[in-house]
Amino acid sequence: MLFAHDTECSLIAAAALVNTDGRDGEGLPDIAALDAFYTAHSYSGRHEHTEVELRAVRALRPRLRRLWYADIDEIVSIVNGLLREHRALPQLITHDDEPYHLHAVPRDAPLATRMAVEAAMAIADVVRSGELRRLRTCDHPDCDNVLVDLSKNRSRRFCDAGCGNRAAVSAYRARKAAARP
Ligand SMILES: [Zn+2]
Ligand SMILES: [Zn+2]
Repeated sequence: MLFAHDTECSLIAAAALVNTDGRDGEGLPDIAALDAFYTAHSYSGRHEHTEVELRAVRALRPRLRRLWYADIDEIVSIVNGLLREHRALPQLITHDDEPYHLHAVPRDAPLATRMAVEAAMAIADVVRSGELRRLRTCDHPDCDNVLVDLSKNRSRRFCDAGCGNRAAVSAYRARKAAARP
């Protein structure tokens, strides 16, 4: 494992959240979509199922997306800004049979606040480990999804949206076309 378990989960969730605001349109069109996202990424704690909550989560995405494109100084300023703004106070806690992990805001803080702070804490780990190169964008030319490369040899090139398969199919077609007399 490259980072602590809670860090890796938070990085994957942050990338997935950023990718709901991609080229393919709105990935969080309604409260039901946010509910599904919440469940898929094993969130716990406060979840209001309201339009206000949905709007706050959506509004967080552009700021998080910058973390994948910015240089280290801007990343640090976004991370520190988020932690300061939400008065992050890291505490080790355990709940729902999970091992001790860090929460930096209370579990009854708004969902968007917890998402922001979790992402900031996780990116802080990445910065401290000198692993920012693991925050990458998908190599497929038609895709602007972000990804977290947690592979041992830093070999991950494509996002989870099927771009690896699409690229393999186009490469296969290109080889076949080239082999034609
Ligand atoms: Zn927790
Ligand atoms: Zn992709």
